[in-house]
Amino acid sequence: MDNRLQNIVEHFDEIKIGVDEPFQFHCTQCGKCCVNREDILLNPKDLYNLAKELNLSPEEVINRYGESYIGDSSRIPIVRLKPQGSIKRCPLLKDRRCSVHKSKPTVCAMFPVGRCLKIDGADCSSDKIQECQVEYILNDPGCGDGKETHTVRKWFEAFGIPLEDDFFKRWHQTVLEIGTVIRKAEKIYGESLLNKIWTLIYVLLYLSYNTAEDFLPQYISNAEKAVWIIGMMPLQ
Ligand code: SF4
Ligand code: SF4
Repeated sequence: MDNRLQNIVEHFDEIKIGVDEPFQFHCTQCGKCCVNREDILLNPKDLYNLAKELNLSPEEVINRYGESYIGDSSRIPIVRLKPQGSIKRCPLLKDRRCSVHKSKPTVCAMFPVGRCLKIDGADCSSDKIQECQVEYILNDPGCGDGKETHTVRKWFEAFGIPLEDDFFKRWHQTVLEIGTVIRKAEKIYGESLLNKIWTLIYVLLYLSYNTAEDFLPQYISNAEKAVWIIGMMPLQ
């Protein structure tokens, strides 16, 4: 577990916030949160939204602005915005403003709010994840002037992020299911075969979308295919 996650776990009760609980925050658009960043991850929905906004394919978005790698703990392909230059500037920051404000990645849109799935006392194995409760946390932004009062509900509404976010849970389920199999496969298969499997997962989960059509049905179909293919791999 990285330090940031460890910190959240240790202080969870102090930083958690209810959906209708007020918090003070006002972004002064200084752009500081868009530099010195190496952790702006794009889930498939973020990538689809950016592709649609920029009139590019998901693959073109990654080629221009991102990069992919295998997650240390998830063991599945991860996509992130590729930091630029010595100040590690987000490639979508133009003239100190986010150039994709309406379609910015979920982690950027939610800031300073974060969300997670509550696993205490609940079975959050992959087939039960839909029943897990979503919890919200308020990170100390350390920026802005605090001149506005918000709630998580209103904050999410403003960025079109649903509280009942079907994709959020489905994505966690997919990551868990595929990661579990990959961890077993890594003990048996060689690098060449593993790379082929990762490429297949990457193409299905991140690239195979038509932005003229709705995202979620395409994601569900792609994720089902990926999980089915992974499930066919002999692991003994
Ligand atoms: S969120 Fe904070 S750091 Fe980022 S632009 Fe707004 S005020 Fe600046
Ligand atoms: S996507 Fe926009 S808000 Fe997010 S780090 Fe890049 S420039 Fe900043």
